[in-house]
Amino acid sequence: MYKLKMAIGTKSMPIRKEDWVSPDKTRPLASMKPNTLRWMIWIVSLAFLVSAYACKGERPSRDRKMNLLLITLDTLRADHLGFYGYPKNTSPTLDTLASASVIFDQAIAQSAITPVSHASILTGLNPYHHQLRSLHGGVGYELPDSCLTLAELMKANGYATGGFVSAFPVTLHYGLHQGFETWDEKFQKEDDIRILTDNGIVNTGRAQRAADETTTKAIAWLRQQAKTSFFAWIHYFDVHDPLILPPQEYLRRFLPKSQNQADVLRAIYDAEIAFIDDQIKRVLRELEDLQIRENTVLAVLSDHGEGLGDHQWWGHSILYKEQIRLVFLLSVPGRSESLRLSSLVRSIDLVPTIVELMDLDLPVGSRFDGVSLLELIDKSLTQPLTSYSESINDLTAYYGSQMQNESLYSVSDGQWKLILHREHSRDKRLELFDLQSDPHELRDLSEKHPEIAIRLRNHLEGMHAIVLDPPRPAIDEETKKRLKSLGYIK
Ligand SMILES: [Zn+2]
Repeated sequence: MYKLKMAIGTKSMPIRKEDWVSPDKTRPLASMKPNTLRWMIWIVSLAFLVSAYACKGERPSRDRKMNLLLITLDTLRADHLGFYGYPKNTSPTLDTLASASVIFDQAIAQSAITPVSHASILTGLNPYHHQLRSLHGGVGYELPDSCLTLAELMKANGYATGGFVSAFPVTLHYGLHQGFETWDEKFQKEDDIRILTDNGIVNTGRAQRAADETTTKAIAWLRQQAKTSFFAWIHYFDVHDPLILPPQEYLRRFLPKSQNQADVLRAIYDAEIAFIDDQIKRVLRELEDLQIRENTVLAVLSDHGEGLGDHQWWGHSILYKEQIRLVFLLSVPGRSESLRLSSLVRSIDLVPTIVELMDLDLPVGSRFDGVSLLELIDKSLTQPLTSYSESINDLTAYYGSQMQNESLYSVSDGQWKLILHREHSRDKRLELFDLQSDPHELRDLSEKHPEIAIRLRNHLEGMHAIVLDPPRPAIDEETKKRLKSLGYIK
């Protein structure tokens, strides 16, 4: 029921046209002359229309392809949304959306670092394969051109592509713009907002913008695409930190009576979620006004969570559950009921799922670390999945922490989860959690079950994910300023 049939893309030429194949996956499209290709498209389209008409006695219900809208919610903990059980009313729009969507309850990020995680979302690859593994320098901070992104795929399959991002860690500096014909990251205003932080006065306008501004830009573009098929990516950053506050009306709804600093910061976090939720409402209303909502696949993911004090950690970058459990919703046209799935899935599964769902052509030899989740949605998947996550060279911002010089690697089979701490290229310690009996990962069982810890440690070794002697990250002055304004470095 999810197999959406469509004609071969015609709007734009493939990026590496010699490598692209027609749906039978045997003959490169580029081996045909343009006129031949155009005729074949007409013939294939006509054949499809005739066969559909002949088989079902009615015309196909759609004469155009589906659209795809990806919304990523930076730093948003799944357990602070209503449909994941949060008691405060932070997310009425997303809750309504979830009531007619597939909800993944145990979705795991491949990193709790913004560009690293987004690179996995957009490529379907683990970090050790896409090679964007750090915020700056060292093990690699730029997505290589050789990586195939979701935007490149969509563009090559004939979709208009537009990306609208809200913060420096997902900009072209990191190579995440690849494949977007329209790319909007215009938030680098010299005199936007200056605020006082522990690091002194910083200009946050150089590194991020609020959700309403990004939404306005995205909506203007969507209005131009109403007559075509498109892939849009909207990225929201507001909950990343309390540097840019939401309007007072949102703060008033959540601020506690207590002056406890942690309670106030958590309330600001919730107010920021509510603000983003209202911006998503604007986007969904626009799709309805344009009469394309029912024709649009909607994927909503966070890139990682936030500590908020759990495991004695306020920010992100490490690998406990509150950091790497994701928001993951998939709204598919034609589905009107909610489906909640508790199996472990990964952010790298998004792209393969979209490829199957939207019947996209792929380059010869392309590969993903993720898998399509359509079988899981149909409850016929038998192979349990294993997740991988990492944090390399990104803990130095946490001076004073026992982890400041560590690299972290994690693997989980859904039952057990291992976190390997390495320092100076040597194992420092292992943590093992039983996710069934200890879902909040509070009891390390590595000494009680060393055989399981060693098995998972060997699994990590076999993935060739571990970096021997990670180089110290280098950083240029401009990047340093922007990351400093976001609290990543001191
Ligand atoms: Zn992030």
